[in-house]
Amino acid sequence: MSENDDELIDPMIRRDWHSYFMDIARVVASRATCDRKKVGAVIVREKTILSTGYNGSIRGLPHCDEVGHDMDEGGHCVRTVHAEANAIVQAARHGIMIDGADIYVTASPCWNCFKLIANAGIKRIFYREFYRDERIFTTAKQLGIELWGPDNWKDSNV
Ligand SMILES: [Zn+2]
Ligand SMILES: [Zn+2]
Repeated sequence: MSENDDELIDPMIRRDWHSYFMDIARVVASRATCDRKKVGAVIVREKTILSTGYNGSIRGLPHCDEVGHDMDEGGHCVRTVHAEANAIVQAARHGIMIDGADIYVTASPCWNCFKLIANAGIKRIFYREFYRDERIFTTAKQLGIELWGPDNWKDSNV
């Protein structure tokens, strides 16, 4: 979790829907097991949560916070399944249809997760901070997928 954590839950303020789901995504991220980057994802349709995910090891294998990171040559830890992929997989395991849904992620999707999101039929991506891959912007436009960053989903009625 990064800046403005103190604003996470203020019971005196009724959250707008986007902040509500993004705050839930931030709580989901707190379950992540790779502290190089903790990410949470929440898949939503019609104001209902369909699935959640955070980045962690393959089911049944030890986590980064137990056995250390698994670094590739590019300097990235590759031990984990990413939050967005885990949210899609959780829906698949439970037979939940996510075609046409929205996804809230605490960090913008990496290229691989973006491809999964696109092929899962998810139509809108809301992210809290930009993370790494610029290709998602041009490709989302090509595909008609809406990408909403923190500067434009807050206080909007989309
Ligand atoms: Zn790691
Ligand atoms: Zn990813």
